[in-house]
Amino acid sequence: MSSLWLSYKNLFDNINIKNKLDDNLETDICIIGAGIFGITCGYYLSKLGFKVTILEKDFISSKTTGHTTAKITSQHGLFYDYLANSYSSTFAKDYLYVNELAIKNIKNIIDDENINCDFEYQNSFVYTTKNEEIDIIKKEYNTLIDLGYKPELVTKTGLPFPVKIALCFKNQAQFNPVKYLAFLSKSIIDNGGEIYENTTAKDLKSDFDNLITFTDNNYIKSKYVIIATHYPFINFPGFYFTKMYQSSSYIIGVDTKKALFNGMYISAKDPIYSFRTAKFNNKDILLIGGGDHRTGKPSSYNDTYGKLEPTAKKYYPDCEVLFRWNTRDCISLDKLPYIGTFAPNMPNVFVGTGFKKWGMTLSNVASNIVVDKIIGNNNKYEYLFKSSRLKPIKNYDEFKNMIVESSNSLLFNKLKRPNMNFSEIKNDSGSIIEVNGEKVGIYKDKNGKIFAVKPICTHLGCLLSWNDIDKTWDCPCHGSRFNFEGKNLYDPAFKDLSRYNF
Ligand SMILES: Cc1cc2nc3c(=O)[nH]c(=O)nc-3n(C[C@H](O)[C@H](O)[C@H](O)COP(=O)(O)OP(=O)(O)OC[C@H]3O[C@@H](n4cnc5c(N)ncnc54)[C@H](O)[C@@H]3O)c2cc1C
Repeated sequence: MSSLWLSYKNLFDNINIKNKLDDNLETDICIIGAGIFGITCGYYLSKLGFKVTILEKDFISSKTTGHTTAKITSQHGLFYDYLANSYSSTFAKDYLYVNELAIKNIKNIIDDENINCDFEYQNSFVYTTKNEEIDIIKKEYNTLIDLGYKPELVTKTGLPFPVKIALCFKNQAQFNPVKYLAFLSKSIIDNGGEIYENTTAKDLKSDFDNLITFTDNNYIKSKYVIIATHYPFINFPGFYFTKMYQSSSYIIGVDTKKALFNGMYISAKDPIYSFRTAKFNNKDILLIGGGDHRTGKPSSYNDTYGKLEPTAKKYYPDCEVLFRWNTRDCISLDKLPYIGTFAPNMPNVFVGTGFKKWGMTLSNVASNIVVDKIIGNNNKYEYLFKSSRLKPIKNYDEFKNMIVESSNSLLFNKLKRPNMNFSEIKNDSGSIIEVNGEKVGIYKDKNGKIFAVKPICTHLGCLLSWNDIDKTWDCPCHGSRFNFEGKNLYDPAFKDLSRYNF
């Protein structure tokens, strides 16, 4: 799972990042998580003179941000007709405005800090190759026109295949997120902030006017805490686990050996395909994304990378696949992020999550809302993403899915007898078996060496499923992931699985 962006990870080497917190500290603002949301908050707040301390479980940009596609756009698939109909035209217009503003904000940061992160303006397109999808694209176009935006409908794009129609947003952008975060991290430290890697926040408590964040052996006292852990690492209060799931997507980076097109593209409907170009070693390579599925739902190579690679070969027969990676993002049931106060009884704790695979702009929107809350500014767009909203669920299919997946993994699947036994598990594969009435997760490596874990998620106790693509144990309820030895890789869980000697 190596991403193009993380091949630039050595840019962090010359920055004074601390390895692990080994003392108790006092700070103004403790930010938990060093992806694009946590680091952008840290950047803005340290510039304003706050003492910022960032805790990162792994290393900066190691998780979703280091594995994204990094299109910076307000075109979040086909979304504005949904917003205008489910909420109001004003709501849709405001959503569009803040995301357009985020593109400008990111460009301003890049200019102010003189950041070399391969930022370039590109037009963004939602396209279809199917006659039956022409009308939904036209509907989105008409809604946008009603909102006062000026998109374009085109039938010719830079893609190497014909499209029926495409909706174009002009002056959107793309960049390299790891290069961007390296510069921002340096600025935070230059402004007196501290970043501790390999430091996991395990609990958060209020103590009179202060908040105490607990790590393995230490604590940090602060006036404010920002939970930037992607999926919130605490369950109560907040109850985010009842309103979000995670969805995985796969990306390949391809040297096409041919000149490449301009523009960033995504298909209108499933199966999703996403295209953009990116710089690697002073060359343009092609990124193709797709293979989406709910994290924790077993998927095969053929349904993921196996779909992307033939697409590349079809249009660029001499191409070479240089990178293959995947990651996942949080999706809320009403498709809107949760941004702002974490919970009504925790007014000094803030959150930004549920960016639904559009977190490049939405993390900037979220950072501005959270910063405004801390400095007491009224942010008129906060209402779009209120984390305490109790709106009716807009999307009943998502709601039903969430209930079914959670009840299956928490209860029914645990009662089912596994349909594999030990001898049936092939080398380099894994499965759940039953031993003396207990479920055991077995992985046999390429040489037949056995790794046995308790396949119960340490977040909320759901039964895990085997992911044969990455050789990991994944949670269908909320998307936590563990390697075959039981080490926690991805949130919301942060504890490892119990291991068995086998
Ligand atoms: C395949 C894919 C493609 C995408 N493409 C795009 C795109 O083109 N454009 C776009 O706008 N968006 C895109 N997105 C979405 C975007 O990448 C994400 O929304 C964004 O990166 C999320 O950033 P984050 O900071 O919230 O999370 P992360 O980057 O995951 O950062 C959270 C950090 O918190 C740390 N952490 C977790 N728990 C703890 C803890 N207990 N203690 C300490 N640290 C902790 C993690 O290690 C991690 O580093 C895509 C998403 C996917 C899945």
